[in-house]
Amino acid sequence: MLKFVSRERETPMKRNSGERRRDFDEIYARFADDHASTQASRCSQCGVPFCSDHCPLGNDIPDWLKAVAEGRLEDAYALSSATNNMPEVCGRICPQDRLCEGSCVIEQSGHGTVTIGSVEQYITETAWDKGWIKPVKPAEERPQSVGVIGAGPAGLAAAEELRKEGFQVKVYDRYDRTGGLLVYGIPNFKLEKHVVSRRTEHLEKSGVQFIRNFEVGRDATLAELRADHDAILIATGVYKARDLVCPGSGNNGVIAALDYLTASNRKGLGDDVAAFNTGDLDASGKSVVVIGGGDTAMDCVRTAVRQSATSVICLYRRDRKNMPGSLREVANAEEEGVIFEWLAAPKGVKGDAAKANGIRVSKMELGEPDESGRRAPVEIDGAEFDIDADMVIKALGFEAEDLPALFNEPDLKVTPRGTLRVDGATLETNIPGVYAAGDIVRGASLVVWAIVDGRKAAAAITMQLNSANITPIAAE
Ligand code: FAD
Ligand code: SF4
Ligand code: SF4
Repeated sequence: MLKFVSRERETPMKRNSGERRRDFDEIYARFADDHASTQASRCSQCGVPFCSDHCPLGNDIPDWLKAVAEGRLEDAYALSSATNNMPEVCGRICPQDRLCEGSCVIEQSGHGTVTIGSVEQYITETAWDKGWIKPVKPAEERPQSVGVIGAGPAGLAAAEELRKEGFQVKVYDRYDRTGGLLVYGIPNFKLEKHVVSRRTEHLEKSGVQFIRNFEVGRDATLAELRADHDAILIATGVYKARDLVCPGSGNNGVIAALDYLTASNRKGLGDDVAAFNTGDLDASGKSVVVIGGGDTAMDCVRTAVRQSATSVICLYRRDRKNMPGSLREVANAEEEGVIFEWLAAPKGVKGDAAKANGIRVSKMELGEPDESGRRAPVEIDGAEFDIDADMVIKALGFEAEDLPALFNEPDLKVTPRGTLRVDGATLETNIPGVYAAGDIVRGASLVVWAIVDGRKAAAAITMQLNSANITPIAAE
């Protein structure tokens, strides 16, 4: 260990941008064995590991790095999987620069951080290859059942934890595939879909039952599901897109980010997508402007590049330092040819109802901090310019849908933001036995936080159901 003094930080090989622009495959290769152990050996084994403190899951990072450096990969996998249900997903798409790696102390001494995320991915990919990841076999089966609404990372993490305890778990999802935004939001070049479907198959083999194309609110009310289960977990995410409010925002060619990304992901999965085939959700041959500065905006610009857009510009009203998206993804987008217009906000979409053909932009400057603590963008009088655009993609963030109305459960309490109100310790809503986890509690957040919540809710449900003192059924 402590090799950071003699070994430089190295990430796994990244494909060159020319090649990346031509396909949707992941852009990073996996670490080779010797590379992973060398990089892991850079860790200084801090007595107080800030990396773990800044990992939302509190992963035991120094110990699994040491195990990798010493070639004890099965031990590394045991440690890593003890706190995380999808380490290979987090290793790929956590914004490590803001979480674990952003707090790695060796950077303070002028050395690059340990490549924690890539090593985490390497450990679990090795575990899959070697067959160490086995279906869950609970010590005893329990008769109580839990209904999980939503098969995103929060629902899937909870389902696995509840199966470990022996409960009967049914996961309902309105989509035809499971994985939530891991499948239909996040593009392949960050997370290939087989990584997600492998997890679903693992859960199916573990006894979790998936009910697809089942929308709570349409196919059953919450009350009906409650009658079928001993506890319910709501993990439905947030899907109401914030809208663009300016003249021309309804023009043909102004589209919502998630519609665009879902169409692209479905095409990649081999689905027939009418709105893609007509060209409405295909950027090929178009000049594209994406409005927003978060992960969704970054995924849109990089998707448009891969669809052979003639130009791709990202408008963001604050500057690079204050954008919410991962800085790593901005750098990747720039390498792939995306132009960023910082401190720029849309003033109006040009063209007419039949066709957008450009966007009028106001230059902004940063003023006093707003309620989020970030300096608020303020329009500079008279500083306006136009950009050509055949396609304008709105990536302005997401809000919660009106779940009490959708679920026909007016008593379900929500916060002023529309997210579900829960007990902070147990994630139980105001309705006894109904819990909630992930984005529907936090607002649009991160995969790793969804996993944290799924695990926390599963632990609270386990405690509640165990207290009912029902005799377990002996395992076969
Ligand atoms: P979701 O993943 O949204 O899953 C919710 C599930 O519930 C869906 O499958 C949905 O179909 C289902 N559902 C909803 N309503 C119903 C209903 N009424 N009945 C039945 N089922 C229902 N995070 C990162 O950490 N890194 C990234 O790089 C990253 N990139 C992102 C890119 C995009 C484009 C987007 C939109 C988000 C990104 N995120 C990223 C955020 C991350 O995807 C979410 O925080 C995370 O998926 C939330 O998990 P969840 O389980 O709460 O909800
Ligand atoms: Fe870092 Fe995310 Fe892994 Fe935690 S889960 S160690 S934050 S990559
Ligand atoms: Fe190792 Fe960095 Fe974590 Fe310290 S902060 S234990 S050096 S990974």
